[in-house]
Amino acid sequence: MSDSPAASRSPIPSPILPGATLGVLGSGQLGRMFTIAARRLGYRVHIYSPDSDTPAGQVGDVERVAAYEDLASVREFASGVDLVTFEFENVPSATSQAAAERVPVRPAGSVLHITQQRLREKTFLKEHGFPVTPFRRIATLEELTAAARDLGLPAMLKTASFGYDGKGQQRLTPQSDLAAAFTALGGAEGIFEAFVTFEREISVVAARSPDGSFAAFPVFENAHHQQILDVTVAPARIPEVVAAEAVRITQGILEALDAVGLITVEMFLTPSHQILVNELAPRTHNSGHLTIDACVTCQFEQQLRAVCGLPLGSVALRQPAAMANLLGDLWIEAGGVPDWSAALSDPAVKLHLYGKTEPRAGRKMGHLTATASTAEEAILRVREARDRLVPSRVRR
Ligand code: AMP
Repeated sequence: MSDSPAASRSPIPSPILPGATLGVLGSGQLGRMFTIAARRLGYRVHIYSPDSDTPAGQVGDVERVAAYEDLASVREFASGVDLVTFEFENVPSATSQAAAERVPVRPAGSVLHITQQRLREKTFLKEHGFPVTPFRRIATLEELTAAARDLGLPAMLKTASFGYDGKGQQRLTPQSDLAAAFTALGGAEGIFEAFVTFEREISVVAARSPDGSFAAFPVFENAHHQQILDVTVAPARIPEVVAAEAVRITQGILEALDAVGLITVEMFLTPSHQILVNELAPRTHNSGHLTIDACVTCQFEQQLRAVCGLPLGSVALRQPAAMANLLGDLWIEAGGVPDWSAALSDPAVKLHLYGKTEPRAGRKMGHLTATASTAEEAILRVREARDRLVPSRVRR
């Protein structure tokens, strides 16, 4: 055995080429758009989730309906594919481990483990020197009271696990009843985060290959409504040095995680232009949807290239763009199916629907993207297109 550094590094695995079969754990819209991209490149895609007739299952080659906890079924699924990736990070660790007994899983289960629990994630970020808002673990009312005293109010109290889109989150103010807030955690472990007064929220979607190559999309700027992403615009309207710093932080995080695949870093930008990392997603992200219509390579193809070990594609933004989410609330407000033709009367607007049949409040049903010569115009056009979906909004 040689002692040379090159010999001690693990060899770069050979690429998984078009024609291969990819397995996806999770079956939502992210899996659907990944599958569409993968099929365009000539891959076959098998979907695994507990649900049937799913957004991803509708466009995949095979839709396997089984529980994530059914490890025998997971192993059998993995045996039928060349690689497993996921579109949903709340897959149990044991599930990704069972798949990894058969084929490569990318990103690795270790990345999933860190990013699926807020406390582990924030602790990892802090220990590696990445900027985060002060936080505390909350297991008792006494710990909550102490955190409120030491870190101050307002603050956010979140469940440590299984939270997304503001689910399991409470905003605490000096008027809040801390005992009631603690009870609302329902016995789950919590995380108390000092409230960040931010100027903007931004995200960086970036890919890292098995050979360590890295590529980040232009920084996205995100506006939320009731803690759910509402509108994203690219490029973010921030100084270039800040954008470069956001990408630098992202590259550092992907390297610290030794991640192979596509990872999203959500960040807050304070009025003094300090960046604080809010959250990581070990996958494609809602804020990256505009890459389908606005970038040379979309985030889903980039995820595919990264996990398969193909060269990463260009992340160049062809034109400024804005994306607006279409939640089930629109169907409720429209009293039925939204007016698609009215939205598409602007030829620069693209419609994406996820194949979900049941519109519910807060449920992501689809999105619109508009491209334009400036970010401001793209925002205006996508918002106007979304308003036209609901006839009563247009008449107002
Ligand atoms: P999250 O699920 O952690 O991404 O939170 C959803 C949204 O809630 C974020 O995008 C922010 O708009 C808001 N939020 C979450 N945590 C904080 C915080 N510590 N300070 C201020 N706003 C927050």
